[in-house]
Amino acid sequence: MSTVQIRDVRKSFGAYAVLHGIDIDIADGEFVILVGPSGCGKSTLLRMVAGLESITSGTVSIDGRVVNGLEPKDRDIAMVFQNYALYPQMTVAQNMGFALELAGAKREEIKSKVDKAAGILGLEPLLQRKPAQLSGGQRQRVAMGRAIVRDPKVFLFDEPLSNLDAKLRVKMRAEIKALHQRLKTTIIYVTHDQIEAMTMADKIVVMQGGHIEQIGSPLDLYDNPRNVFVAGFLGSPA
Ligand code: ADP
Ligand code: MG
Repeated sequence: MSTVQIRDVRKSFGAYAVLHGIDIDIADGEFVILVGPSGCGKSTLLRMVAGLESITSGTVSIDGRVVNGLEPKDRDIAMVFQNYALYPQMTVAQNMGFALELAGAKREEIKSKVDKAAGILGLEPLLQRKPAQLSGGQRQRVAMGRAIVRDPKVFLFDEPLSNLDAKLRVKMRAEIKALHQRLKTTIIYVTHDQIEAMTMADKIVVMQGGHIEQIGSPLDLYDNPRNVFVAGFLGSPA
Protein backbone atom coordinates (compact mmCIF):
# COMPACT_ATOMS: atom_id res chain seq x y z
CA MET A 1 0.00 0.00 0.00
CA SER A 2 1.36 3.42 -0.93
CA THR A 3 -1.13 6.21 -0.91
CA VAL A 4 -0.35 9.93 -0.88
CA GLN A 5 -2.65 12.60 0.53
CA ILE A 6 -1.99 16.28 -0.10
CA ARG A 7 -4.23 18.44 2.11
CA ASP A 8 -4.62 22.20 1.74
CA VAL A 9 -0.92 22.54 0.98
CA ARG A 10 0.33 26.08 0.61
CA LYS A 11 3.74 27.48 -0.19
CA SER A 12 5.14 30.98 0.01
CA PHE A 13 8.65 32.15 -0.72
CA GLY A 14 8.79 35.18 1.58
CA ALA A 15 5.73 37.26 0.77
CA TYR A 16 5.29 35.54 -2.61
CA ALA A 17 2.55 32.88 -2.49
CA VAL A 18 3.26 30.16 -5.03
CA LEU A 19 0.71 27.46 -4.08
CA HIS A 20 -2.73 28.41 -2.78
CA GLY A 21 -4.20 25.34 -1.12
CA ILE A 22 -3.66 22.11 -3.02
CA ASP A 23 -5.73 18.96 -2.32
CA ILE A 24 -4.89 15.72 -4.11
CA ASP A 25 -5.63 12.11 -3.16
CA ILE A 26 -3.43 9.49 -4.77
CA ALA A 27 -4.38 5.82 -4.59
CA ASP A 28 -2.02 2.88 -4.25
CA GLY A 29 -0.36 2.17 -7.60
CA GLU A 30 -1.87 5.18 -9.30
CA PHE A 31 0.08 7.06 -12.01
CA VAL A 32 -0.76 10.71 -11.40
CA ILE A 33 0.49 13.49 -13.64
CA LEU A 34 0.69 17.12 -12.55
CA VAL A 35 0.48 19.24 -15.68
CA GLY A 36 0.34 22.97 -16.26
CA PRO A 37 2.26 25.85 -17.76
CA SER A 38 5.78 26.70 -16.68
CA GLY A 39 5.84 28.52 -13.33
CA CYS A 40 2.47 27.22 -12.06
CA GLY A 41 4.06 25.47 -9.07
CA LYS A 42 4.39 21.82 -10.19
CA SER A 43 8.03 21.35 -9.17
CA THR A 44 7.51 23.15 -5.88
CA LEU A 45 4.65 20.80 -5.01
CA LEU A 46 6.65 17.71 -6.00
CA ARG A 47 9.65 18.92 -4.00
CA MET A 48 7.43 19.32 -0.95
CA VAL A 49 6.26 15.71 -1.33
CA ALA A 50 9.92 14.68 -1.62
CA GLY A 51 10.93 16.70 1.44
CA LEU A 52 13.28 18.93 -0.54
CA GLU A 53 11.19 22.02 0.18
CA SER A 54 9.47 23.01 3.42
CA ILE A 55 5.67 23.11 3.57
CA THR A 56 4.31 26.54 4.53
CA SER A 57 0.97 25.06 5.67
CA GLY A 58 -1.15 21.98 5.10
CA THR A 59 -0.06 18.35 5.24
CA VAL A 60 1.47 15.70 3.02
CA SER A 61 0.85 12.11 4.16
CA ILE A 62 2.26 8.88 2.76
CA ASP A 63 0.29 5.78 3.76
CA GLY A 64 -1.62 7.82 6.29
CA ARG A 65 1.50 9.12 8.05
CA VAL A 66 2.10 12.88 7.96
CA VAL A 67 5.60 13.38 6.53
CA ASN A 68 5.90 17.18 6.94
CA GLY A 69 9.29 17.72 8.53
CA LEU A 70 10.65 14.25 7.72
CA GLU A 71 13.98 14.12 5.89
CA PRO A 72 13.78 12.93 2.26
CA LYS A 73 15.62 9.72 3.17
CA ASP A 74 12.94 8.85 5.75
CA ARG A 75 10.02 9.16 3.31
CA ASP A 76 10.44 5.99 1.25
CA ILE A 77 10.29 7.89 -2.02
CA ALA A 78 12.70 8.16 -4.96
CA MET A 79 12.88 11.14 -7.27
CA VAL A 80 14.04 11.25 -10.90
CA PHE A 81 15.15 14.69 -12.01
CA GLN A 82 15.10 16.42 -15.37
CA ASN A 83 18.91 16.69 -15.51
CA TYR A 84 19.36 13.08 -14.21
CA ALA A 85 21.96 14.24 -11.64
CA LEU A 86 24.27 11.25 -12.33
CA TYR A 87 27.72 11.15 -10.71
CA PRO A 88 30.14 11.63 -13.63
CA GLN A 89 33.09 9.82 -12.02
CA MET A 90 31.08 6.67 -11.22
CA THR A 91 30.11 3.83 -13.54
CA VAL A 92 26.48 3.08 -14.29
CA ALA A 93 26.54 0.24 -11.73
CA GLN A 94 28.08 2.50 -9.09
CA ASN A 95 25.57 5.26 -9.81
CA MET A 96 22.73 2.78 -9.38
CA GLY A 97 24.11 1.21 -6.21
CA PHE A 98 25.32 4.34 -4.45
CA ALA A 99 22.20 5.05 -2.38
CA LEU A 100 22.15 1.44 -1.16
CA GLU A 101 25.83 1.67 -0.30
CA LEU A 102 25.17 4.82 1.74
CA ALA A 103 22.35 3.02 3.51
CA GLY A 104 24.84 0.32 4.54
CA ALA A 105 23.64 -2.51 2.28
CA LYS A 106 25.96 -5.49 1.74
CA ARG A 107 27.88 -5.76 -1.51
CA GLU A 108 26.02 -8.89 -2.70
CA GLU A 109 22.65 -7.28 -1.99
CA ILE A 110 23.66 -4.15 -3.92
CA LYS A 111 24.85 -6.24 -6.85
CA SER A 112 21.68 -8.29 -7.01
CA LYS A 113 19.42 -5.22 -6.87
CA VAL A 114 21.49 -3.34 -9.45
CA ASP A 115 21.50 -6.37 -11.76
CA LYS A 116 17.74 -6.76 -11.41
CA ALA A 117 17.07 -3.08 -12.19
CA ALA A 118 19.54 -3.21 -15.10
CA GLY A 119 17.60 -6.19 -16.45
CA ILE A 120 14.30 -4.35 -16.24
CA LEU A 121 15.74 -1.31 -18.03
CA GLY A 122 17.99 -3.09 -20.55
CA LEU A 123 21.11 -1.59 -19.01
CA GLU A 124 23.13 -4.82 -18.55
CA PRO A 125 25.63 -4.09 -21.37
CA LEU A 126 26.27 -0.58 -20.03
CA LEU A 127 26.94 -1.25 -16.34
CA GLN A 128 30.68 -0.50 -16.53
CA ARG A 129 30.37 2.69 -18.60
CA LYS A 130 30.59 6.23 -17.24
CA PRO A 131 27.70 8.69 -17.83
CA ALA A 132 29.73 10.62 -20.43
CA GLN A 133 29.74 7.46 -22.60
CA LEU A 134 25.95 7.20 -22.65
CA SER A 135 23.25 8.69 -24.87
CA GLY A 136 20.52 10.90 -23.40
CA GLY A 137 18.01 8.06 -23.32
CA GLN A 138 20.52 5.75 -21.63
CA ARG A 139 21.25 8.37 -18.98
CA GLN A 140 17.55 8.72 -18.38
CA ARG A 141 17.32 4.96 -17.88
CA VAL A 142 20.21 5.03 -15.39
CA ALA A 143 18.42 7.77 -13.44
CA MET A 144 15.34 5.53 -13.32
CA GLY A 145 17.49 2.55 -12.36
CA ARG A 146 18.89 4.49 -9.45
CA ALA A 147 15.34 5.04 -8.23
CA ILE A 148 14.22 1.43 -8.83
CA VAL A 149 17.02 -0.21 -6.81
CA ARG A 150 15.70 1.55 -3.71
CA ASP A 151 12.31 -0.10 -4.14
CA PRO A 152 10.52 3.05 -2.99
CA LYS A 153 6.84 3.29 -2.10
CA VAL A 154 6.43 6.30 -4.35
CA PHE A 155 8.30 7.46 -7.47
CA LEU A 156 8.47 11.17 -8.19
CA PHE A 157 9.44 12.33 -11.68
CA ASP A 158 10.08 15.98 -12.57
CA GLU A 159 9.98 16.51 -16.34
CA PRO A 160 12.18 13.45 -16.91
CA LEU A 161 11.91 13.57 -20.71
CA SER A 162 12.29 17.26 -21.41
CA ASN A 163 15.97 16.98 -22.37
CA LEU A 164 15.33 14.28 -24.96
CA ASP A 165 14.54 14.73 -28.63
CA ALA A 166 10.96 14.20 -29.80
CA LYS A 167 11.47 10.67 -31.12
CA LEU A 168 13.20 9.42 -27.99
CA ARG A 169 10.56 11.11 -25.86
CA VAL A 170 7.86 8.97 -27.47
CA LYS A 171 9.90 5.82 -26.84
CA MET A 172 10.63 6.70 -23.21
CA ARG A 173 6.95 7.46 -22.55
CA ALA A 174 6.15 3.89 -23.50
CA GLU A 175 9.04 2.58 -21.38
CA ILE A 176 7.92 4.47 -18.30
CA LYS A 177 4.34 3.26 -18.81
CA ALA A 178 5.61 -0.32 -19.09
CA LEU A 179 7.73 0.15 -15.99
CA HIS A 180 4.70 1.33 -14.07
CA GLN A 181 2.69 -1.66 -15.22
CA ARG A 182 5.48 -3.96 -14.15
CA LEU A 183 6.31 -2.44 -10.75
CA LYS A 184 2.79 -1.20 -9.92
CA THR A 185 4.33 1.58 -7.85
CA THR A 186 2.57 4.84 -7.07
CA ILE A 187 3.95 7.56 -9.37
CA ILE A 188 3.65 11.33 -9.25
CA TYR A 189 4.96 12.74 -12.51
CA VAL A 190 5.35 16.41 -13.42
CA THR A 191 5.31 17.69 -16.99
CA HIS A 192 4.25 20.74 -18.97
CA ASP A 193 3.59 18.48 -21.97
CA GLN A 194 -0.12 17.76 -22.39
CA ILE A 195 0.52 14.80 -24.72
CA GLU A 196 2.63 13.14 -22.04
CA ALA A 197 -0.16 13.71 -19.54
CA MET A 198 -2.92 12.45 -21.84
CA THR A 199 -1.05 9.31 -22.91
CA MET A 200 0.55 8.23 -19.64
CA ALA A 201 -1.62 9.20 -16.67
CA ASP A 202 -4.30 7.29 -14.78
CA LYS A 203 -5.24 10.64 -13.31
CA ILE A 204 -4.32 14.15 -14.42
CA VAL A 205 -4.10 17.19 -12.14
CA VAL A 206 -4.31 20.36 -14.24
CA MET A 207 -2.66 23.30 -12.48
CA GLN A 208 -2.47 26.98 -13.23
CA GLY A 209 -1.09 29.86 -11.18
CA GLY A 210 -0.63 27.87 -7.98
CA HIS A 211 -4.03 26.21 -7.87
CA ILE A 212 -5.79 23.18 -9.33
CA GLU A 213 -8.13 23.76 -12.26
CA GLN A 214 -9.37 20.17 -12.52
CA ILE A 215 -8.55 16.58 -11.57
CA GLY A 216 -9.72 13.59 -13.58
CA SER A 217 -8.84 10.76 -15.92
CA PRO A 218 -7.52 11.77 -19.36
CA LEU A 219 -10.91 10.86 -20.84
CA ASP A 220 -12.85 12.84 -18.18
CA LEU A 221 -10.80 15.91 -18.83
CA TYR A 222 -10.98 15.59 -22.57
CA ASP A 223 -14.75 15.01 -22.62
CA ASN A 224 -15.72 17.31 -19.76
CA PRO A 225 -13.19 20.09 -19.34
CA ARG A 226 -14.39 22.33 -16.51
CA ASN A 227 -13.34 25.55 -18.19
CA VAL A 228 -11.73 27.11 -21.21
CA PHE A 229 -8.26 26.88 -19.67
CA VAL A 230 -8.45 23.10 -19.24
CA ALA A 231 -9.99 22.65 -22.67
CA GLY A 232 -7.38 24.84 -24.32
CA PHE A 233 -4.49 23.32 -22.45
CA LEU A 234 -5.42 19.72 -23.20
CA GLY A 235 -6.47 20.51 -26.75
CA SER A 236 -10.04 19.23 -26.34
CA PRO A 237 -13.03 20.83 -28.07
CA ALA A 238 -14.43 23.37 -25.57
P1 ADP B 1 6.84 24.81 -12.43
O1 ADP B 1 7.59 23.60 -11.99
O2 ADP B 1 5.37 24.58 -12.58
O3 ADP B 1 7.41 25.42 -13.68
P2 ADP B 1 7.88 25.99 -10.00
O4 ADP B 1 7.27 25.18 -8.93
O5 ADP B 1 9.29 25.72 -10.35
O6 ADP B 1 6.96 25.94 -11.29
O7 ADP B 1 7.78 27.51 -9.61
C1 ADP B 1 6.57 28.12 -9.21
C2 ADP B 1 6.85 29.57 -8.87
O8 ADP B 1 7.63 29.63 -7.68
C3 ADP B 1 7.61 30.33 -9.94
O9 ADP B 1 7.10 31.63 -10.02
C4 ADP B 1 9.02 30.32 -9.41
O10 ADP B 1 9.73 31.43 -9.86
C5 ADP B 1 8.80 30.38 -7.91
N1 ADP B 1 9.88 29.75 -7.15
C6 ADP B 1 10.26 28.45 -7.20
N2 ADP B 1 11.27 28.20 -6.35
C7 ADP B 1 11.54 29.37 -5.73
C8 ADP B 1 12.47 29.79 -4.72
N3 ADP B 1 13.34 28.90 -4.18
N4 ADP B 1 12.45 31.08 -4.33
C9 ADP B 1 11.56 31.95 -4.85
N5 ADP B 1 10.66 31.65 -5.80
C10 ADP B 1 10.64 30.38 -6.23
MG1 MG C 1 9.21 22.64 -12.87
